[in-house]
Amino acid sequence: MGSALDGTGVRRLAMAGPAVARDRSSSRRANLGLVLRLLRDEGPRSRARIADDTGLPKATVSNLTAELLDGGLIREGEAERDRGTVGRPGQAVEIDGTGVHGIGAEINVDYVSVLGLNLTGEVTAEERIPFDVRAAGRPDTVLDTTARLITRSIDRLRRAGGRVVGVTLATPGTIDLRTGTVSYAPNIGWSDVPALDGLRERLGPAAPDLHLENDAKLGALAEYVQASAANVRDLVYVTGQTGVGVGIIAGGQLLRGVGGYAGEVGHLQLVPSRQLCPCGRRGCWETTIGRGALLRYAADRGDMVWDPMVDLERRLTELRTRASAGDPRTLDALRRIADNLAPGLALLADILNPRLIVLGGHFAFFGEYLIDSVTAQVRERVMAPNAGGCEIVLSDIGLTGTARGGALLALDAVYQDPVRAMSRG
Ligand SMILES: [Zn+2]
Repeated sequence: MGSALDGTGVRRLAMAGPAVARDRSSSRRANLGLVLRLLRDEGPRSRARIADDTGLPKATVSNLTAELLDGGLIREGEAERDRGTVGRPGQAVEIDGTGVHGIGAEINVDYVSVLGLNLTGEVTAEERIPFDVRAAGRPDTVLDTTARLITRSIDRLRRAGGRVVGVTLATPGTIDLRTGTVSYAPNIGWSDVPALDGLRERLGPAAPDLHLENDAKLGALAEYVQASAANVRDLVYVTGQTGVGVGIIAGGQLLRGVGGYAGEVGHLQLVPSRQLCPCGRRGCWETTIGRGALLRYAADRGDMVWDPMVDLERRLTELRTRASAGDPRTLDALRRIADNLAPGLALLADILNPRLIVLGGHFAFFGEYLIDSVTAQVRERVMAPNAGGCEIVLSDIGLTGTARGGALLALDAVYQDPVRAMSRG
């Protein structure tokens, strides 16, 4: 199941645009970004057409494209088809960037992973290792491992002649973007952890730009990049991890809220339950649909599916094998997950009226057992007819959605300021 980045590169991300250019050099940088984003969003085109589309003088476009070609961010494409204009068809230019990489690194409850993408959207690095983050206690050992995985990917990409322009670290929980601190992530037992400083220290001075972001928001960005190809501007991504959070794209913009905490729905009480949550309260939604609930419903402790040292995908595959063999306990567990999931999704549909709700993590992994029941229940609950036009779909980027979103976010910096990607290693 591959990416739907369809060869035109990363599509419109729900990011803030670049600052308004003032002087000559910053206006050149802004124009380079403008041309690059045009090629990303609208596809290959000739220099003459770029001039038409941007309103820039032809000579300027010619200089800008020369610079982008030189920097390895675009390449010459095919001759452009006749568009009814007089004269010879122009040579098109298109996004290249096969040597320009962004990396997403994810710390989650039971694994640490990295994923690299190049500017054309190809996966260029991928590694995931099982890691019992909560049992590790101190964040230091987790950051050591994360830094090691990142370094390994960067070294490999650089040895192949590539440039890594940025790394986004993803964690669950609430995050202070300004300071790069994980404020509160009960599922991994972190509070006020200066994760970005810790990572920066370990990666050393040659490290690319580093950013920190919440896992659900990055998952939403990764899904949005795919869905925006079909003109979807409003979607909600629901993580299916030990914790459950949502990332919200509304009108093409990532919703952060005043403190960056928007989407922490996992700790709402939506379904009758007395189960203790790592946040200290009882009956939080995620204790009825998160990985803990799935495992509790499906198997006794001591079963291999509980073992945090076994790769998550292997454990989930074991459960799926049981489900497809008709194991009553597994099937009942999945029915309970569906029944507990639906009220929360209906609530999200009522409040946000998204075009898509995308289910990630284990919801996607067991999608065939959940989707029909969940869809029917949501339609029944939502006030608007036909669930307000909201469709519930399964993520097809599996367990990599968050890291993929992180890599896309790192690459977005190239579109905002291509000069940095052309001058950095
Ligand atoms: Zn809770």
